Parts: sequence; structure tokens; C-alpha cells
Amino acid sequence: MDGYRGARTALIVGAGVAGLTAATALARDGWQVEIAEAGPPEAPAGWGLCLTGPSLRALDELGLADSCLVAGYGMTTITQVDAGGKPADEVRLPRLIGARRPAMAGIARPVLHRVLYAEAERCGVVVRHGMTAAAVDQEGEQVRVRLSDRTARTVALLVGADGIRSTTRGLLGFEATPDYHGQMVWRALVPRPAWATGIHHFAGKAGTAGLVPLSDGQAYVFLTENGVERSALPDAALAPRLRQLLEAFPGRVEEIRSLVSESESVVRRPVLTMLLEGAWNRGNGVVLGDAAHGPAPQTASGAALAVEDGLVLAEEIGRHGSVGAGLKAFVRRRAQRCRTLVRTSVAIVGLEQARRHQEAYSLVDSCHRLLAEPA
Ligand SMILES: Cc1cc2nc3c(=O)[nH]c(=O)nc-3n(C[C@H](O)[C@H](O)[C@H](O)COP(=O)(O)OP(=O)(O)OC[C@H]3O[C@@H](n4cnc5c(N)ncnc54)[C@H](O)[C@@H]3O)c2cc1C
Repeated sequence: MDGYRGARTALIVGAGVAGLTAATALARDGWQVEIAEAGPPEAPAGWGLCLTGPSLRALDELGLADSCLVAGYGMTTITQVDAGGKPADEVRLPRLIGARRPAMAGIARPVLHRVLYAEAERCGVVVRHGMTAAAVDQEGEQVRVRLSDRTARTVALLVGADGIRSTTRGLLGFEATPDYHGQMVWRALVPRPAWATGIHHFAGKAGTAGLVPLSDGQAYVFLTENGVERSALPDAALAPRLRQLLEAFPGRVEEIRSLVSESESVVRRPVLTMLLEGAWNRGNGVVLGDAAHGPAPQTASGAALAVEDGLVLAEEIGRHGSVGAGLKAFVRRRAQRCRTLVRTSVAIVGLEQARRHQEAYSLVDSCHRLLAEPA
């Protein structure tokens, strides 16, 4: 098959994990890439995330795993603690980027963002902040995009990487909205206790909690609240409410609870999932990352899927004679893996709501095994 020889101009909407990695992978293949990002230039604030083995493997393909490991906290074990405060299991995850490097890493979101952003810029990607796509028209092999600053771009490829609430999805003609599953998740930045050298999961009577190290000095607490209406709390109420919810957990969670002090470092978000059934592409436009398939956070796999998407997108477009054919091949290669992951994450949410934690853990484990397979 002929490799792609047409115009190599792309507009990506969204400078998150998927947008920045897709931009870097395309720019390295000679594409001129511009990103329209709705947010401000500062890296996003907030909690951290866990880069599991598949995330590190995909980042390693971009040459970025070591920067993430240096900036984050490398780990290999997940300790599961039962509702009585006793260790129930210790899972050792496979080291997908070699025996000498850790199986996964905790990393603060702004730190990951800086690593991805710096590489995209080094590859010549231009990021415009405070900007979004307002309208999309496709004519033959070209996509005309009107931006929110009233300028327009005509490009060979439009990528919607604007997250689970994507508006590019709608502009491309897809009708899909995220699902809410009656769970709210909490995150809080805390000093890392010396014993927290891996992930800890604590099963509680009404929810689950845990701790993920982010650096030598920092970790984040997570807690999942079950059976709650989707709602917002005033900022000042966040830390006191999280401390109250953590009271229900025995053992080490008491120590973690005492570390939750600042409301500014506490966030509470609805658990949303998103699955675009069928094709994710229309003509020369496509959505990827959470805009196409957002799993519940329990599987810690959204970032892996997002980085893999970027790599596979550039690979398939480079391999095919037209962008449209490359996009079809991209979706064919990605759809089943992402669909299984999202559906399994929804099943995990159901098991957690039913307080069947052991079964939920084994499904999380099956997600790790699935994603350990090559993308
Ligand atoms: C609480 C929580 C915890 C999580 N923990 C983990 C974890 O530990 N490990 C893991 O792998 N995954 C985790 N995830 C999932 C992970 O964060 C996502 O799967 C991943 O960030 C998806 O990347 P993305 O680039 O598709 O979307 P996002 O990271 O959401 O990025 C979207 C970008 O688009 C921008 N944007 C939004 N709308 C517009 C618009 N209209 N125009 C222009 N720009 C726009 C946003 O500002 C943002 O920069 C978690 C998710 C949540 C909610």
C-alpha cells in the first residue's frame, strides 16, 4: 500500500494527554500541527494520575517514559486492604518497559502535562490557548474549521481530542454523551507517608479509598463515594467532607485522613464513561482519547488508551494513501480494545456499588492484563 503523500496539515482540538501525544507523533512524521486548546497556558492544576505499564510503554515509544519516571514516582505493587484494615492481596504488575524500570508511575498532572507539552513544542507543534473549534465543513480531502477567534484553517486532518465532554464530537456529527454511574470520585494531594512506596487500595463499607505516591514528597488520596446524586460542593466544604468520608475506613486510612488539610488540593468529580459506538471518524475528521472512549478512573487506563491512540493514528495515516483510509484503519485497530476497557470499567463500577470489592479487583486486574497486550 502507498504511504501517505498528501498535504500534511492537522488541527487538533484539545492539548490533553491524547492531543499532545497525537501532535508529537504526527509532527515527527512531518506534519504541520496546530492545537486549539480551550484552557489557559498554565499546566492544569489538580491531582495526579497513575501511569500503568501500558501508559509507560506507549510513552517510551515517544521517548518520554524516563522523563515521567524521573518527574514522578516509580512503583511495582498494588496492596489491597480489606474492610477490616487487613492486607487482602498484593498484586505485582508486569514491568512492560524492562526489568530495570518500574511497572508503573504516579505523576502529578501538571508535571505530566509539562513533559508532553515540552516535547510537542520541541517537535514544532503550535498550541493556541483560549481557543476552540466553532464549525467544521468537509470538502473532499479537506476540512475547513472555523475557530472561536473567527479565524479559519483548512487542513487535511482534524482531530477532536477535547476530552469526555468533547464538542468537536458534535461538530463532526456524532451524537453521544457521557454516562453518569452514581459515583463521585475524590482526589486530594497529601505529603507521602514513608510506607507508601506502591499503590494502596482500601475497601470500605460504603466505598473505596486509596493512596498513590507522586514523588518522594507527595502522594494523592483517592476515594469513591457510591450511590450519590451528581452534585457540586462549595470549595470550603471539600476537605472537611473528605475527612469525614475517610473516617469510615480503619487502619492506615486514619493516618492519611489527618494529612488532608487544604481544600484547594481536594477535587470531587462525577464518574463518567463515554463510548462512541461504531466509527470515530467522519471524512478526514476523527475523535480520540476520552472524546471517543472514556473509561471510569478505577482502571487507571484512560491515559494509556490516549497515548496509544496518538501513536496508532500517526502510524496508520502514514501507512495509507489517504487520510480517510488511515482513519478507518486507525479505528479498526483501536475500537475493540477501547470498547472492552470502557465496558469492563462500567462493570467494575457496578460491582463496587454492590460492595463486591474482590470481584471488582479481579476485573481491574483483567483490564491490566488486556492492556498489557500490544496496542
Ligand atoms: C478523577 C479521575 C482520575 C483518573 N485517574 C487516572 C489514572 O490514574 N490513570 C489513567 O491512565 N487515567 C486516569 N484518568 C483518566 C484520564 O485522565 C483520561 O483518560 C485522559 O486524561 C484522557 O486524555 P484526553 O486527552 O482524551 O482528555 P483530557 O485529558 O480531558 O484532555 C482534554 C483537553 O481538551 C481541552 N478541551 C476541552 N474542551 C475543549 C474544547 N471545546 N476546545 C478546546 N479544548 C478543549 C481540555 O482543556 C484538555 O486540555 C482519570 C480520570 C479522572 C476523571
